[in-house]
Amino acid sequence: VRGGYLNKLADLLYEHRDILASIESLDNGKAIQLARGDVDLVIRYIRSCAGWADKVTGSVVETGRDHFTYVRREPLGVCGQIIPWNFPLLMWSWKIGPALATGNTLVLKTAESTPLSALYASKLVKEAGFPAGVYNVVSGFGKITGEAIATHQKIKKVAFTGSTATGRHIMKAAAESNLKKVTLELGGKSPNIIFDDADVKKTVQNLVLGIFYNSGEVCCAGSRIYVQEGIYDEIIREFKAAAETLKVGNPFDEEVFQGAQTSQQQLDKILGYVDIGKKEGATLVTGGERLGETGYFVKPTIFADVKEDMRIVKEEIFGPVVTVSKFSTKEEAIKLANDSEYGLAAGIHTTNVNTAHDVAAQVRAGTVWVNTYNDFHPMVPFGGYGQSGIGREMGVEALENYTQYKAVRMGITI
Ligand code: ADP
Repeated sequence: VRGGYLNKLADLLYEHRDILASIESLDNGKAIQLARGDVDLVIRYIRSCAGWADKVTGSVVETGRDHFTYVRREPLGVCGQIIPWNFPLLMWSWKIGPALATGNTLVLKTAESTPLSALYASKLVKEAGFPAGVYNVVSGFGKITGEAIATHQKIKKVAFTGSTATGRHIMKAAAESNLKKVTLELGGKSPNIIFDDADVKKTVQNLVLGIFYNSGEVCCAGSRIYVQEGIYDEIIREFKAAAETLKVGNPFDEEVFQGAQTSQQQLDKILGYVDIGKKEGATLVTGGERLGETGYFVKPTIFADVKEDMRIVKEEIFGPVVTVSKFSTKEEAIKLANDSEYGLAAGIHTTNVNTAHDVAAQVRAGTVWVNTYNDFHPMVPFGGYGQSGIGREMGVEALENYTQYKAVRMGITI
């Protein structure tokens, strides 16, 4: 039955895909072509969850003739879900999909600056026929509504996507209230590593995708680029050219790749980091300023000649600003890549399969993209190492966060 409702919801989301993408662009500022991509993944993910609904099974454990032992997988109960403003509808789907597929009920809070797409989609949830009370959505501020979820005595789990600072606070609130289970998807400062033997054209496309996709407002953005010395000058030249020809502007322009930042606050924060980078002595290769007088547009920005202890290398900027450093050996690249409190994603660009697997095994990140970037699939788990989070979303792994195991052991008289 749950699978049927989720499938119906996927059908309705598909029917309403154009308006959902438009709402997302309007509310968040992201380019319409990217918003369509978000909606497409939302539909595929809800469809994937529909398929899981009757496949989350328990097991029988063989413990001898005098016992019959089995393990049930049960839902947790009411799940609280708190989502951010950078991918409002996608995060909505990553939260509600696995919770509903595994038989939980939920209360989801939208982000205060971008509530519209999830509210629109909530009408579709109702139309899909889920029983009343199963799915609940609230809008409100983090400190009031989010806090009420994190501290609630009857909510059994909280799933949160957002900043590391707020995630830490939520975990504390969960611990101090009722020890509700916690999953967190937090910040990042992901390395994107390029070896001498990489395909330059493809790599540059992936660098662009890595940092300018969604105007850089992506937790797994490839914001620290490391280039091997033999290819460094060529990559800087080609990447600069690509950044300068990238179309930035009106999110509803079909040609635009990088739309607006979401808010004035975000714009100010990004430009603040650009100033910090200049003061720290990094070389500004391109960008570094607002585009136009109105709207929250930022020119794609590349800093080179950075030092690893600079704030622009250490801290999450959450905008179209990237740093580029040089390395000589593979070992050095791995060391630099892992020098972060975060561990959400990493990129590797090489045509050598040995290098690819070796580096993939050694970088500390929940997702490693090789010769691709920001590349998602409903069956591939996503989440962080270190201070990038706890738990995984999508894939079969997401279902783990929404069930608990009950062992039933029955004595048998022989
Ligand atoms: P950012 O700092 O990037 O704006 P946040 O991590 O603060 O992102 O916000 C992500 C989500 O967390 C939003 O839905 C926001 O309302 C919520 N939130 C913010 N503060 C709290 C809090 N103290 N308790 C619970 N939720 C919060």
